[in-house]
Amino acid sequence: MTREYQQIDEGLIKELRKISGEKAVIYEDKEQLSAYAKDEAGGEYYAHMPDAVVKPASAEEILSIVKLANKYGIPITPRGAGSGLSGAAVPIYGGIVLSLERMNNIIEIDKTNMVAVVEPGVVTNDLCKRVAEEGLYYAGYPMSVETSFIGGNVATNAGGSKVIKYGNTGHHVLGIETVLGYGDIVEFGGKRRKDSSGYNFINIMVGSEGTLGIFTKIYLNLIPLPGKTVDLLIPFRSLDEAIANVAITIKESSVLPTAVEFIDKISVELGSRYNNTTLPYQEEATAYLIVQFEGRTKKELEEIYEKAGKVSLENGAIDVFIADNRTFSEKIWRIRRNWLEGLKAFDPYVPTGDVVVPTAKIPDIMEFIQKTSKKYSVTIPVAGHAADGNLHPAPMKPQKMPPKEWMKVSEEILKEIALAAARLGGAVSGEHGIGFIKKGLLPVTKKKEFELMKIIKEDFDPNYIMNPGKLF
Ligand SMILES: Cc1cc2nc3c(=O)[nH]c(=O)nc-3n(C[C@H](O)[C@H](O)[C@H](O)COP(=O)(O)OP(=O)(O)OC[C@H]3O[C@@H](n4cnc5c(N)ncnc54)[C@H](O)[C@@H]3O)c2cc1C
Repeated sequence: MTREYQQIDEGLIKELRKISGEKAVIYEDKEQLSAYAKDEAGGEYYAHMPDAVVKPASAEEILSIVKLANKYGIPITPRGAGSGLSGAAVPIYGGIVLSLERMNNIIEIDKTNMVAVVEPGVVTNDLCKRVAEEGLYYAGYPMSVETSFIGGNVATNAGGSKVIKYGNTGHHVLGIETVLGYGDIVEFGGKRRKDSSGYNFINIMVGSEGTLGIFTKIYLNLIPLPGKTVDLLIPFRSLDEAIANVAITIKESSVLPTAVEFIDKISVELGSRYNNTTLPYQEEATAYLIVQFEGRTKKELEEIYEKAGKVSLENGAIDVFIADNRTFSEKIWRIRRNWLEGLKAFDPYVPTGDVVVPTAKIPDIMEFIQKTSKKYSVTIPVAGHAADGNLHPAPMKPQKMPPKEWMKVSEEILKEIALAAARLGGAVSGEHGIGFIKKGLLPVTKKKEFELMKIIKEDFDPNYIMNPGKLF
C-alpha cells in the first residue's frame, strides 16, 4: 500500500526550515542523514537513506509538516530512538524522517490522578527514574529501557520482562495526542481511567508503527512504587525441564511473578564471555530461568521465594539461587539484558525473531525451533519473556556463508518459526512489531483483521504518506 512519491527539492526544504528552524532540518549531508537510515534490525543490510531529516519541537510544527507532505506527496517515517528490531523506522521510500528526539519533555507528573504526561521523545528509563522520585512506578519495561523512547514503545506496543504482571505498553496508555496522516491533531483519551463512549481509538493507535499518525503527547498510567524485589536464578539440566517450569512457577507461586525469563546454554555462554562474568552451573546447565517477585516486606518476600524455589527443585532444577541484593541481581540481569549485544559481539549478522504463543504451547514452539535449527544446520540461541510466551530465537550465521546469502536464509528460518507460532495460536510478533521485514506474514496470519487494518489506514492516511511500506 504505497503511492507514487515525489522527490524533495530545495523549495520544500525551505518550507520545512521555515516550520522547524534552520538547525532542525538535515539535507544533503550524507554523514548526518545516514544516522537515520537504519534501526537495530539488520544494520546496513536493511538501511535506506532518507532525503531529509526534520526534528520538530511541537505538535503544531508536525501538523504543518504533515500538511506539506500531503500536498507534495512525500513519505514521512516517524522515528524514536531507532532501537526497533523490525525495520519500522527505516525510511524505505526515502522522503522525510521525522525524528521526535527534541520532543523529550516530561510535561507533568500528576500525583493526584497518578498519570504522567510526556512528549514522545522521552527515554523510557528517564521517566521510570523521574516517577520513582515521587514514589511512583511506570511499569513499561522493554529491555531497551535505557535507549528507547516512550513514543516508540507505544507505536510498537513494546513488551519486556514484566508483562505477565503489568501488561505491555498498551496497558499503561490512558491517552494519546496524535497528528493523523490526513492532517489534523486529535486527542484520544486523556487522564480519565474509564471511557465506554464509543470505539477505543487508543487501542488502534497503539502498535500502529507510525502508519496512521505521529504521537505528540502521551498520557501514562502510574502505580505506587512496588516494595522490595527478589530475583531467583534457576539452572536446569534439560531445556524441557526449564520450559516446563515456566507454567509450573506461575501456577504454583503464591503471587504472580513480575518476570519469568528464559535463557538457553549458548546464550549464557556467549553472554558471559561478552559481560566477562559467569553464572553458577554453567557447565551442567542447559537452560536457566530468571524469576522475579515483588513483595511489601522482607518476610513476605521470603515466603514467596521459598515456595517458588521448593516447587522448582521438585521439578528438576539443579539449584535455586536467591539474589536479594543489588550486586547479584545485577549480575543475573546483565546477561539477560545484554543478550542481544552478547550475540552480536560474536555474530554481527544475527537477526532476532520475536514469536509469541500461549504459554502452554512454549514446549511446542521450542521443539519446532530445535527442529528448524537441525534442518538448516544453524545454531539458534533462544532467550525470551517466557512468562508471557514470547521467545526470541536468534539464528547465527554459519562462518562460511556470505552475509547477503545469510540474510535471505535467516529470513526464511524466522519466517518458518513465526508461522509455526501463529499455527499454535500465537502471533508472528509479540513485541517488536512488523515493520517491513515481517510484513508478508500479516495477511497470511491475520487475514480478515488485515483487511480491516487496510480500511483504517485508508481513512486515517488517505495519501499513504505515513511510514509507507510498513505493516502493509
Ligand atoms: C538491545 C535491545 C533490546 C530490546 N528489548 C526489547 C524488549 O524487551 N521489548 C520490546 O518490546 N522491544 C525491545 N527492543 C526493540 C525496541 O527497543 C522497541 O521496539 C522500542 O519500543 C522501539 O522504540 P524506539 O523509540 O527506538 O522506536 P523506533 O525504533 O525509532 O521506531 C519504532 C516504530 O515506532 C514508530 N514511532 C516512533 N515514534 C513515534 C511517534 N512519536 N509516533 C508514531 N510513531 C512513532 C516508528 O515509525 C517505527 O514504526 C529491543 C531492542 C534492542 C536493540
